[in-house]
Formats: sequence, structure tokens, C-alpha cells
Amino acid sequence: MSNKEIRVRFAPSPTGGLHIGGVRTLLYNYLFAKKNKGKLILRIEDTDQTRFVFNAEEYIYDCLKWCNIEADEGVIQGGDYGPYKQSERKEIYLPYALDLVEKGHAYYAFDTVEELAEMREKFKTKENPSPQYDANTRMQMKNSLTLGIEESLKKIKAGEDYVIRALIPQNETVIFEDAVRGTIHHDTNTLDDKVLIKTDGMPTYHMAVVVDDYLMKISHIMRGEEWLPSTPLHVLLWKQLGWEADLPTFAHLPLILKPDGNGKLSKRDGDRLGFPVFAMDWKDANSGEIVKGFKEMGFLPEAFLNLLAFLGWSSGEEREIYSMKEMTELFSLDRIHKGGAKFDYEKAKWFNEQHIKNMTAQELLPFVKNFYPIADTIKENDLLWVIDTVKERCQLLTEFWEQSFFFFEDPESLDMDSLKKGWNEEKELFFKTWIEEIKKQDLNNPDSWKDSFENLIKEKAIKKGAVMMPLRVMLVGGKFGPGIFDITSFIGKEKTMKRIEKALTAL
Ligand code: GLU
Repeated sequence: MSNKEIRVRFAPSPTGGLHIGGVRTLLYNYLFAKKNKGKLILRIEDTDQTRFVFNAEEYIYDCLKWCNIEADEGVIQGGDYGPYKQSERKEIYLPYALDLVEKGHAYYAFDTVEELAEMREKFKTKENPSPQYDANTRMQMKNSLTLGIEESLKKIKAGEDYVIRALIPQNETVIFEDAVRGTIHHDTNTLDDKVLIKTDGMPTYHMAVVVDDYLMKISHIMRGEEWLPSTPLHVLLWKQLGWEADLPTFAHLPLILKPDGNGKLSKRDGDRLGFPVFAMDWKDANSGEIVKGFKEMGFLPEAFLNLLAFLGWSSGEEREIYSMKEMTELFSLDRIHKGGAKFDYEKAKWFNEQHIKNMTAQELLPFVKNFYPIADTIKENDLLWVIDTVKERCQLLTEFWEQSFFFFEDPESLDMDSLKKGWNEEKELFFKTWIEEIKKQDLNNPDSWKDSFENLIKEKAIKKGAVMMPLRVMLVGGKFGPGIFDITSFIGKEKTMKRIEKALTAL
């Protein structure tokens, strides 16, 4: 690596919700920038106006905010290399494309949509079912190679629609280094003459990404593996534009695969298998449909980032639970994997669970509050105590309420099947007697409740297990929850007696 400044970019297109693959790209770029005291640039790639979705850009900013990741330069922050939104850079790209035309690396093309379809039909063979605009076909088409430059410029002057296409050289090998995959050799005969400037004057992704990465002085391009096939074209353009000495280092990140390893994880897999694939809830502007996000499912941002880091990278240590600070210290490109990473939702929840365990109640408080429907009506100290009492049982933030609502509200229904199982007069008598005992006693901590209960068990010579489980169901509604006497001492005598009595009448 040369000693130029480390500048990396996250370059999402605002076309929809941010998929976990996108957030992982963001994360690796961020960790790499932080580790190397470099800069993270957030660039909005919105040159494809047909795919533009109005709420997507805002959503990207919201996701970064939730992840607590801040870009050093971008639409919001500004910076010396702006604008950072490609649609606002429209005028920048054309001169570079014209430079390529002048140097014989690109040409004007005037073919209509119908003519392109005709070409595909005409050149279709069994061996080549989808012919492209390339060395085999370009000389049969309407472009400045076949019409001549003068005729072409006349057409342009007369206002005819045109595009600028890359003129891919024949029989060359493009060679470039990928930090993950090593040296890549690519035969130019497999590349087609991609459009660089579209009829609306906008650059395509290929043109814009090359020009912007150069002008923004990007040192490393870390992006998903799906962009690897485009890289030979990008490398050619870098060279043809005379920028070879500044070519960034590439690092193509492995795909995130479906849980069974069969293919790339898609939004539909999430719907089908019941887990989120977007960082945050994404509302489809057309259908109004909301696709669930990790945030709303109850993930902590740091746990979410920790689990994403391990989808395609390893720390070189046994452990897997890390804070962002620790990951920043450990991150390096040479431990990014080549092979795809299977997404496992159970494992994802395990990451969250471990982070919950490692955090204090005070640290968890702001996160739990968002998922606790009555947070505003209870004392903060009570909520802190509840968090401490149940956090060992929660994998997701949503579970804090499920695991503790009974401290504040009577259970709506009781698991009668469990309660009725093995129910007999002896047990009924036990509970009735205990209620009388409770009334007489001064019970104010878990130990005094426990003593009272156990003394009666001894006196009645009844098995502890036989009455503990029913008591739990009476208090919380089912066979779950923290220590029974933590519950009774928190809710107090009145509520404890009321819940037992209610259950006895229902039995
Ligand atoms: N705009 C591309 C995307 O949305 C980014 C490709 C790149 O990083 O070069 O994924």
C-alpha cells in the first residue's frame, strides 16, 4: 500500500431499504477507515432515475444514525470533494466521456430500443442466446464507428438521441489486485460495450463510479462481490482516462447466503423464513407494505454490527463478541473470507443475547425503553431493577416486556393446562392456607417470602416442585419468568393474593 491517505466510500443507491449486505459493506468500510485513521465518504449513487425511491435516501441516513456510524464526508457533512450526490454532479462526467471518445476508447451510438431488440434477435444463436453490443455486433449498428464521426456529430447537433458507449479492446487481459481474491485476470473478449452516458445525459453507474472514485481520491474500494464482474471495465476506464497510477485497491466482499447456503440471501427469504433482512423497518412507498428491520425486531445496534462483521470476516481469535471499539482495533482486509457467508438467524439472536448479557441495566435502559410500552409511567429505578432481573432471559429487546409485564400488570390469561395437570385438593388447601399466612406476615423481601412458603411446605409435607410450578403460572400466566419470590416481593402481598385467588376460582 502506498502512503496515500486512506479514503474509502460507502456508495448506496437510494432504491429501497438497506439490506444487511449493504450495512456490512458500510461497516467494513467504516472499520477500515477508523483503523487506518482514514476517511469514510458517503456517496449517494442516484444516476438511475428510473429506480429512484423518494424515501430511500432519508432511510440510509436513519440507518447510519441507528448504527452510530458517522461518515466524514457526505451530503449532510459536506467536504472538499462534493457534491456527494451523483445527480448533482451530472455536468462533471460528460467531459471525461468525451475525452474517451477523442482517445478512441468510446463512441457515440444512436440505436433505438427497437433496433437493439432487433440486433439481439438477429444475432441470437444456440451458443449465444443473448448477444451483446460488442466486437461481434458493433459494426452492424448505428454508431460513430459505422457512420463516421462527422455524420455522428451532425446527428447530435440536430438533436438526435445518443448514448456514449465504451469501446472494449479485443484480445487483452485486464489484470488487477483484489485484497480478498488476489490477482484477477480478465479476458476483454467477454466484456460488452457498456453505455457510459445515457440519452438523458446522465452517466451510468460505471462511468460515474470511476470518475467519482478518482475525483474523491478513493484509496480502497470495498463493495459486494456482485460488482466484481464490473471491475474489469472500471479498471480499463481508469487506465484509458490516464489515472492508472491512482487505481484504488479493490476488496470484493463475499456474498451473504441463504441459511441453507443455496444462493444469495434475498428480501423474499426474510419474508419466507420470518427474519429481517433490512437494518430498519422499510416502508414500501407504493404498496405501503412494511418490511421488518433488525432494529424493530429488538436488536441492539452494536450486536447487529458485531454479527454482520462475522458474516465474511474473522477476528483471528476464538471469541466472537466484540464492541465496535474492539472490532475497529482488530479489523483487517486479510481476514475477509472469499467464500459466501451463510446467514443464520438463531446465531444472530445469540449475538444479541450476548451483548445484552454484557451490558449493565443502565446501559440497556435507553434501548429497552423503546420497547417497553409503559416505560413512561413507571419509576426509572423499577425499570432498572426489572432489566437486571430478566436480562439473562432475553435474546431480543422485545422480550424484556414479554419477560416482565407481570411485575406491573395481571396476566391476561393463565396456562390452564399446566395448572390443571396434577391439581388436587391437597394443593388447593396448601394455597388457601398460604394466603392466610401471607396476610399475617410482614413479607417484604424475596427471602421472607421464600421462608414463608418453605415453612408451609414442610408443615404440610408437600413436595416443593408440586406447588412451585402452579404458583408461577398463577403469578405470570405461564411456565416462564424470573425467580418466583422476586416477583412476589416486587408486586407485594395484595397482588400476590389476588392472583392466587383468581387462579383458584378458575381451577
Ligand atoms: N451504488 C452501488 C450499490 O448500490 C455501489 C457499487 C459500488 O460500491 O461501487 O450497491
